Amino acid sequence: MKKIQDYDSINYDYRCYWKDREYENLSEQRILKKILKDKNGISFIDIGGAYGRLTDLYKDKFEIPILFDYSLKNLKKAQFDKKVIRICGDIYNMPFKDDSIQSGMSIRVLHHIEDPESAIKEIGRVTSDFFILEFANKNNFLSLLRNKFNPKFIDKDTYEIPHKSDSQGYLNDQVFLNFSPNFIKKTVLKNKFFVKGIYSVSNFRERNLKKVFPLKFLLSLEDIFRGIFSKIYFGPSIFLYLEKRDKKNKSYKRLEDILICIKCKGELKEGKCNKCKINYLDKSGIFNFRSPLKID
Ligand SMILES: [Zn+2]
Repeated sequence: MKKIQDYDSINYDYRCYWKDREYENLSEQRILKKILKDKNGISFIDIGGAYGRLTDLYKDKFEIPILFDYSLKNLKKAQFDKKVIRICGDIYNMPFKDDSIQSGMSIRVLHHIEDPESAIKEIGRVTSDFFILEFANKNNFLSLLRNKFNPKFIDKDTYEIPHKSDSQGYLNDQVFLNFSPNFIKKTVLKNKFFVKGIYSVSNFRERNLKKVFPLKFLLSLEDIFRGIFSKIYFGPSIFLYLEKRDKKNKSYKRLEDILICIKCKGELKEGKCNKCKINYLDKSGIFNFRSPLKID
């Protein structure tokens, strides 16, 4: 089975991660606000949205905002908001009909996915209009500097696992990948997407810089240099704004029209599949496709 970073198995609360990363958090929110400024519509999916760090940026713009994550524990921590649909499931086998969700995003997720090509294929299958895909950039400026701009390293058209474990140590042994921009661009093109925008984000993610300069200063520098930074893939985190090549315009207006049973691909009614008698809707209001209940 393909591996996905399972935060439930290591009992990890993703909220802790962001405590010391205000600069990165705000840098990401800034770019998402810019991309989503004039966007609205029927449905939007936040794949790997965990406890809903970014929910406020999209929930009022779309009629059906979906928070999708593999970690049930993190979804349970999501702020209760009736409008946001929480779905626990597997990115390789999402419980949605083809082209049924209009748009979405996946931020800080791809580096935890062992088979990114299959995940991107599945994203292309379920979305019909646009998608914002973030990936960890192997060829970021600091990393190239450390490698003395060795062309062999720069041209590598794939991805790699960083040598150092995360500073907190909890990521030892876990899926953690950095990608070359070429690899990601080729993969999205193969999967029915056009790349319409490239944004370099968290450009000053460096411990000493963050210590010396005030947060606001770094963020405004980022705004000033974003154009040039994005052209050269300067930062450690790249956001791609993707549009579907062949827009099907099939986005369904009701959640019931979007969801399918992951076993028999049949339709669900109030979270239940009548064919194989599985109930995916749990008591807390989360659609749980990881460990659903059998109904009699
Ligand atoms: Zn079924």
